[in-house]
Amino acid sequence: MSVADQYEIRPHMKFHSTVKIAEYEPKTATWKVIIEDQRTGRETQKRCRILISAVGALSVPKNCDLPGAENFKGHLFHSAQWDHSFDYKDKEVICVGNGCSATQFVPAMSDGPNKVKKIIQFSRQAHWLSERPNPEYSRFFHFMMRWVPGVQRLYRTYLFLLQERDFAGFHVHNGQKIRSEWTHAAKKYIETNAPAQYRDFLVPDTVIGCKRRVMDTDYLSCLHRENVDLIYNDPIDHIIERGIVTKSGREIGADAIVLANGFETQKPLFPMEIRGQNGQSIADHVSRFQRIQSHLKLIGWQWLEFADGSPEAYFGTCLSGFPNFFILMGPNTLSGHLSVLYTSECQINFVIRLIRPILSGLNRSLLSSLFNTEFPGSVVVTSSAERKDVAAIDDKAKQLIWATGCTSWFIDPDTGRNTIMFPDWQFKFHLRSMLFSWSDFIYQKPPKSLQREVLLTHQHSLRATATGITIIGALFGLSSLLGYHPLSKLDALHQYLSAYI
Ligand SMILES: Cc1cc2nc3c(=O)[nH]c(=O)nc-3n(C[C@H](O)[C@H](O)[C@H](O)COP(=O)(O)OP(=O)(O)OC[C@H]3O[C@@H](n4cnc5c(N)ncnc54)[C@H](O)[C@@H]3O)c2cc1C
Repeated sequence: MSVADQYEIRPHMKFHSTVKIAEYEPKTATWKVIIEDQRTGRETQKRCRILISAVGALSVPKNCDLPGAENFKGHLFHSAQWDHSFDYKDKEVICVGNGCSATQFVPAMSDGPNKVKKIIQFSRQAHWLSERPNPEYSRFFHFMMRWVPGVQRLYRTYLFLLQERDFAGFHVHNGQKIRSEWTHAAKKYIETNAPAQYRDFLVPDTVIGCKRRVMDTDYLSCLHRENVDLIYNDPIDHIIERGIVTKSGREIGADAIVLANGFETQKPLFPMEIRGQNGQSIADHVSRFQRIQSHLKLIGWQWLEFADGSPEAYFGTCLSGFPNFFILMGPNTLSGHLSVLYTSECQINFVIRLIRPILSGLNRSLLSSLFNTEFPGSVVVTSSAERKDVAAIDDKAKQLIWATGCTSWFIDPDTGRNTIMFPDWQFKFHLRSMLFSWSDFIYQKPPKSLQREVLLTHQHSLRATATGITIIGALFGLSSLLGYHPLSKLDALHQYLSAYI
C-alpha cells in the first residue's frame, strides 16, 4: 500500500491544477485562490482560511536563454519537465549543464538496452564531485532495525550528527581545515576516476562548499563511455534547426536538447501572484520595473521593504502583511549539509504551533464556546520581528563562505545576499521552530461573519442536543408510566455481551 493510500491523502488532492493567484480578503479573513486546470485552462476559485505554499525551491525551471531555440525542429525540454514522448534509444542528444540533474541522467541515458547513440554534454564550470557511499546492509543490521526498539532512532541520530558536523566547514575562518580535507578527498576521487582528457577541467578551481557538493552517481565513470562527450572549452553560441553551433563555429546535430540549467531559485513563489492584506504583492522583485519602484520608494512590493528587495521571510516562513500565509522551503531555510525534508518538517511543526489557536477556535467544543466566545481568526508576524530576523540571518551569513563572492544559486546576483541557506546549525533550526517568541505575532479577531458562523453552528448543535435530551426524557417517562424499565434492559444487554466478548 502506498503512503498516500495508507494515510487517505488522495481524496484531499486536486491534480492537474496550478495556483495562479492568491489574494487575502481582510473583510472575511480568507484567502481567495484562483486555480487553473492544466488540461482545460479553465479557472476556478476557492477560498481558504489558511494558505500554505509547498511549491519547493527547485520546481520552476530556468528558461532556455540560447538564441535560436524557437528554430529547433527536434525535442527541446528541461530535465524537470521530461518529454516522455521522446524515445532516446540510438538518438543523438545534447545536454546543457553538469550539476546535480545532469550528473544523474547522463549516466542513465548512456548505458543499458535503451542507450543513446551519442550524448554531448556542455559544461561551463566544474562541480566538486565526491564519492557516494552506498553500502550493503547486513542481515544482522536489517534484523536490528526491524526488531530492536529504539535502534532505528539511534541510527537516525547518528547519521544526523555525522552530517551536522559538516556545518563547521562552511565557516570562512574556522572551517578552513575541514574544507581542505574535503578538497583533498574530492580532488583525489576525481583524479582517480575521471578520464585523463577531462581531469584538469573536472577538478574545480572554486572554493569547495560554495556550490552544493555533488554526490557522484556514476557520472565520472560514464565519461569513459564512447557514446559520451564532454565539451567545456567551446560553449554553445546558438541553436539551429537540427542542432547547435558552438562559439568556434562547430556545428553539432541533435535529435534532442535537454536543458539541465537549473531553476528559478531567486524568485520564490514565482510565477504565482500573492497579495496580502493591503493588496501588496510578493511577486518577482528582481525585474527592472520593480527595481525602479524601489528607487522611487513606491510601496506595494513586500520584498522591496526588506533585505534590499531580495527574498526573505521570518523563519523563512512568514511575511508581515500576509496573515495566515506560510511558506515551506522558503528563503534561508536550506542547508548545504542536511536534507530539505528535515527543514520542511521543522517548518510544518512551527506552522501547526502558530495556527493551533485558530483551528481550536473553529473546532471548539460546545461547552468551551458557551464560556468563551473569543477566538483568533488570523495570525501575522509583525514587521519589526521580520526585520530583526532578517538582520540576524544576514549577520550570521557574513561569517560563512557564501559571503566570499563565489557564484552559487544560493546567492542573489543583484544584492549578493545569501537568500537560500540557513546560516546556522540545523539543530538550531529545530529549536527555533519550537522556541520562538509569541510576541513576534499578532493574533487578530475573526471577522463578525466568522464569529456568527461558529456561533450558529453551536446554536444548531445546542438545539439538536436539547431536542435529543427532551425526546429521550419523554420516552423514559412514558415507559416508566407503562411499568417498563429500559435501564434494566441495558443491564441485561451488558451481561449478554460480556458472556461473548
Ligand atoms: C536534481 C536535484 C537534486 C536534489 N537533491 C537533493 C538532495 O540531495 N537533498 C535534499 O534535501 N534536497 C535535494 N533537492 C531539493 C529538492 O527540491 C527537495 O529535496 C524536495 O524535492 C523539496 O520538496 P518540496 O515538496 O518542498 O518541493 P518539490 O518536490 O519541488 O514539490 C513542489 C511541488 O509543487 C508544485 N507546484 C509548483 N508551483 C505550483 C503552483 N503554482 N500550483 C500548484 N502546484 C505547484 C510542483 O509541480 C511540485 O509538484 C534536489 C533537487 C533537485 C532538482
